Amino acid sequence: MTKPVIARFAPSPTGFLHIGGARTALFNWLYAKNTGGKMLLRIEDTDRARSTDEAIDAIIDGLKWLGLDWDGDPVFQFARADRHRAVVDELLATGKAYRAYDTIEELEAMRANALAAGKPPRYDGGWRDRDPSTAPEGVKPVIRLRVDNSGETVVDDAVQGSVTFPNADLDDLILLRSDGTPTYMLAVVVDDHDMGVTDIIRGVDHLTNAARQIQIYRALGWDVPRMAHIPLIHGPDGAKLSKRHGALGVEAYREMGYIPAALRNYLVRLGWSHKDQEIFSGEEMIAAFNLDSVGRSAARFDFAKLENLNGHYMRAMPDEELIAVFKDSLPYLPGGPEAQAKLDAGMWDAFQIMLPAMKERSKNFIELLDNASFLLDARPLAPDDKAKQALGAAGTRELIGRVLRQLEQVDSWSAENAEAAVRAFAETEGAKLGQVAQPLRAALTGKMVSPPIFEVLAVLGREESLARLRDQAA
Ligand code: GLU
Repeated sequence: MTKPVIARFAPSPTGFLHIGGARTALFNWLYAKNTGGKMLLRIEDTDRARSTDEAIDAIIDGLKWLGLDWDGDPVFQFARADRHRAVVDELLATGKAYRAYDTIEELEAMRANALAAGKPPRYDGGWRDRDPSTAPEGVKPVIRLRVDNSGETVVDDAVQGSVTFPNADLDDLILLRSDGTPTYMLAVVVDDHDMGVTDIIRGVDHLTNAARQIQIYRALGWDVPRMAHIPLIHGPDGAKLSKRHGALGVEAYREMGYIPAALRNYLVRLGWSHKDQEIFSGEEMIAAFNLDSVGRSAARFDFAKLENLNGHYMRAMPDEELIAVFKDSLPYLPGGPEAQAKLDAGMWDAFQIMLPAMKERSKNFIELLDNASFLLDARPLAPDDKAKQALGAAGTRELIGRVLRQLEQVDSWSAENAEAAVRAFAETEGAKLGQVAQPLRAALTGKMVSPPIFEVLAVLGREESLARLRDQAA
């Protein structure tokens, strides 16, 4: 019987959860869910100078926002340093590791000689078999893995295929630094083994590390987990992903007003495909995900595609659900906290009534908030440039004054009754409905684009509508 899958996401908390990391987490999560296994979370905080608590919080917050959960408590790598050192003691005892007393000057000379000879800088294995009693005074040794430098190491990868590294290219890597701290290479192997990890899914930038890690597994006599090194994410022009291209923290996407389910859907298609399907519900993704359909070529990040997909989610999501997600995101949007403070229960009711019309015009929550501004802004409104221009046109303020007097006659205030009054007015004026509706829109919403104007009148209510018209009428 094959062992149940245990995958893991192992971010280094030296920065926020960036978009590439989020995609790696998503693939691990989908793989674990698809196989009925588990996904563990390990915070690789061994780089003490660069790891921060803010980054740990941002990673955990980002994963939660994306709806990616993990099994059990997060494992913190630095807390396991004693265990890492104990494993090195075992390797020393079996002769699989050795102390190397090279001075910094010697290592620098080794490097310079290799480069001068046109070779990659590799450790020359000088202390492999040297008697430690000949060690120079005062040099604290590092501990290196004794690697068989003949033959080759093969990474049998679910995405990259079988990748062969000549052992001569992989020198005796350092396991413990001279100050006794474990290296990343050692810590990853020991932790993955101790956590029972069966599958390692991570970026292809770790492929060479995989070969070195396999050598550590072999030296310890441990089973090597299955590996899948997924392609990196590039910008739309094929170059390395930059900030401009979207190499941002996940929280930036929340601030840009994206729906987490839409971002997840966007990310799953970066490197993975299932026929020509573009839209996946959470369940569909889980059911369809497999590593065989992860391609080898770099995926390209495309903001326009994300924006379209998000617009699709906005339109397709049931209103109740959309409002719930919007409420979660609101504090993070530009101007969101201020809007939140203004939105009382009555305004949320109006927001819900207007939502079908507003979401048609919004590809993200920033646009939705902007489209809802007419509900939130207090009188007198500050019309935007286009509305200002329309209101300033000859005769417009007078026209608004005349419609106002018609609407003042409407006693039973509703969209239908307001519409009847405006239509009757247009007829007596010999004007087209649009010629009346656009000035009304400018006066009532401060914009030239809004939900249908009679609905706006209904939602604002009689008093507020008439007052807004009075503000602009001549
Ligand atoms: N901590 C590493 C990183 O953030 C990942 C290591 C791994 O997945 O093995 O790049």
